[in-house]
Amino acid sequence: MSSDQQLTDSARRRLDEQYQTISSYTDRLFAILLTLQWIGAILMALYVAPFTWIGATRSLHPHIYLAIFGGGTLVSLPLLLVLTRPGRLETRMVVSISQMLFSSLLIHLSGGRIETHFHIFGSLAFLSAYRDCRVLVPATLIVAVDHFVRGVWWPQSVFGVATASEWRWLEHAAWVVFEDIFLFLMIRQSNTEMRQLAIQTGQLEDAAREAENANRAKSQFLANMSHEIRTPLSGILGFTEILLTDENGDPKEREEHLRIVSSSGQHLLALINDILDLSKIEAGQVMIEHVRCSPASLIEEVASALRVHAKNKNIDFEVHWCSAIPEVIDTDAHRLKQVLTNLIGNGIKFTDNGRVTLNVGYATRHDQGELQLQVADTGVGIASDKLEQIFKPFVQEDETVTRRFGGTGLGLAISHGIVKALGGTLTVNSIVGTGSCFEIRLPVGDASKIRLVDAATDAKSIDRLEQSAKSVDFHGLRFLVVDDGATNRKLASLLLRRAGAEVATAENGSIACEMIDDKQFDAVLLDMQMPVMDGYAAAASMRANGYARPIVALTAHAMKGDQDKCKRAGCSEYLAKPIDREKLFATLRELTETASLLSGGDETSRFPQSDSDTESENPPSTAYRSSLPADDPEIRDILVEFVDTLSDKLD
Ligand code: ADP
Repeated sequence: MSSDQQLTDSARRRLDEQYQTISSYTDRLFAILLTLQWIGAILMALYVAPFTWIGATRSLHPHIYLAIFGGGTLVSLPLLLVLTRPGRLETRMVVSISQMLFSSLLIHLSGGRIETHFHIFGSLAFLSAYRDCRVLVPATLIVAVDHFVRGVWWPQSVFGVATASEWRWLEHAAWVVFEDIFLFLMIRQSNTEMRQLAIQTGQLEDAAREAENANRAKSQFLANMSHEIRTPLSGILGFTEILLTDENGDPKEREEHLRIVSSSGQHLLALINDILDLSKIEAGQVMIEHVRCSPASLIEEVASALRVHAKNKNIDFEVHWCSAIPEVIDTDAHRLKQVLTNLIGNGIKFTDNGRVTLNVGYATRHDQGELQLQVADTGVGIASDKLEQIFKPFVQEDETVTRRFGGTGLGLAISHGIVKALGGTLTVNSIVGTGSCFEIRLPVGDASKIRLVDAATDAKSIDRLEQSAKSVDFHGLRFLVVDDGATNRKLASLLLRRAGAEVATAENGSIACEMIDDKQFDAVLLDMQMPVMDGYAAAASMRANGYARPIVALTAHAMKGDQDKCKRAGCSEYLAKPIDREKLFATLRELTETASLLSGGDETSRFPQSDSDTESENPPSTAYRSSLPADDPEIRDILVEFVDTLSDKLD
């Protein structure tokens, strides 16, 4: 990169200021120098050319008049300019001309003494203090012309001899040019150093500014985080305390308290997921897992989860199918849902009146299909100078946003990172007071291979998962729940028993492996982090010992790569904690149905490589819905127990 490109506007401004200071300072020095020279010229005239006597008349030598009036003329214009226009190009050009004419005057006054010619070289050196090569041009021309003219017509005045070679002026001019070359190189060197210094200072200032901004953002983030964590936590602790002390309270009130505890817990969970996600995105490690999925189903799933939020706020939320869309696309469905949830969630959050609309369309660009998703709202809008920044982490439009709407400023940074990782773009348009429109453009591959469907009809057939979960019946099935946490064990057992299953439990992998040997289980629910023997070792051991039925991994490690790790260990499916009842049931139902279809076949090879196209990626961050019926006394007990140990777990 050239130094000009590196010179930022502020560095250029600083450099200009520096040149201005140097020029003004040198102007002042020359003003003093010229004045001193004037006095010097008068003294020289008096000393070298004293009175002359003509008869009885005593008169001053004309040199004295020349020194006084000629020198005065040479000084007055530059002095005027130095006082009125310091630092300007014209001022230093006039100074340069005057200074060199002064050399000529002094040479003349000294009768062309060769020593006085040194004044020329000194003057050129002084002029280089301007660090502007241009001032050397008139200076050099004046010396050359003056020496030529006087050398021809009045050689005594310049060379101190009555006759001089007609080329002598050229020799003098050549010496001046010789000095000019060195001065030119020095000035260039000095200018390069000044420029580099300006660039470095600019870079240092930028770094300092960035550090300051980062520091401010960090403080703002800590303040937001503290607020975001404390609010649900105080809800959880406060209501738990009430529930514990007021055992015989009104059941309706207790239920309400439990609901608050549950939603506060969900909020904290979402926050932790956001932080984990952001750290992955910032480290450039966001893992994208492409699976075939129906965009219509995916969109409807997100929409149905968020409709309730819009309803609570009394605003409309609609999905507009603007065109036919691809029947299936290859994308990371979990991540895309996460982005849509954030954008629609923001739309609802920042809109008090009106509506939020999700416009879904499809277009072809250069033979490539592109899914277009627009989230438009009629909310508060975003100021134009903030539009770029809101995609940066921890940035909110201003600090009043936290006070009014809550949030941490992480969602859009995460969404932006995800859409980029998916190969698409996320942009925003907004008008304060009118609303905002966020648009995702997602390339979906070769347009000729894409089958388009009328999405409006297609979307009606979605939520197969939820429907199947609702009609689940596990009568006649035996499950083994393996978890070191008593609360999780209890909860999973209760949910499965309610669905008609027979359930056994184990506290760690080692016990589970022993139990597997003795009894036939239709499926195992296996926590992956456990003391004694963890889930990975347990799954591997079970498979090694010939257990061929489904093993469902349950883990709090809500990271994408964990799914592969679990499957490599021998698990058939993967579900992230906390347990989502619908997903648990749907997964178990699908796996056990497949298992019974395959019974008698080679099940061992089937399950670890299970290629289920259900929602197996199990998005932890879409778990905004409470999947646990808190009105159920048994589940309520489990919730209370969970909440009891929550602060320890958080520690
Ligand atoms: P959070 O919502 O947690 O503050 P986000 O990263 O999702 O974090 O959003 C960052 C900021 O962008 C918000 O604080 C808000 O100022 C602004 N913003 C995002 N979406 C909207 C919207 N639909 N309308 C108005 N402002 C928005």
